[in-house]
Order: sequence, then structure tokens, then C-alpha cells
Amino acid sequence: MSAVGTITVASACLVSASAVGGYLWAWARARANVRYLYGRCPSCKQRLRFLAAKAGRPGECPRCRHRHKLAPFAEHAVSA
Ligand SMILES: [Zn+2]
Repeated sequence: MSAVGTITVASACLVSASAVGGYLWAWARARANVRYLYGRCPSCKQRLRFLAAKAGRPGECPRCRHRHKLAPFAEHAVSA
């Protein structure tokens, strides 16, 4: 293999490596933005998990269909 060929292959590897790195970075960022909070249904006391982005917004209990405002009760217990 010629020197020019080696350089071309090396730079191609570098480009694909940074592309994978950028993809992983974007993936990690997207994952970090998805946070879940835990709350409790005021009607049936069912433990509920909902997206952090939905906190304070109206939601429906999947168990008893009670409509209420989603409020986290234990933010420290959140696991990513
Ligand atoms: Zn309920």
C-alpha cells in the first residue's frame, strides 16, 4: 500500500470515528433529557410514573381513570 493510500485510510477512519462519537453524544444527550418523576393518584393511591416534562399538567390515572394534575412526590427517588 502506498503512503497516500495509508493516509487516505487513516483519515477515513478518523472521520467515521468522529461520526460515531457525535452520534453517541447526541444519543446520550437525548437520553439525559428524558427524565421520569413519580407521583401518586389522589383517588386510588396508585403510584404513577410520568415524564418530567408533564409535571404540573393534567393527566389521567391508568388504573381508575381519575383526572388530576401530575405532581411529583419524590423527585429524589427518580432513576434515569
Ligand atoms: Zn387512580
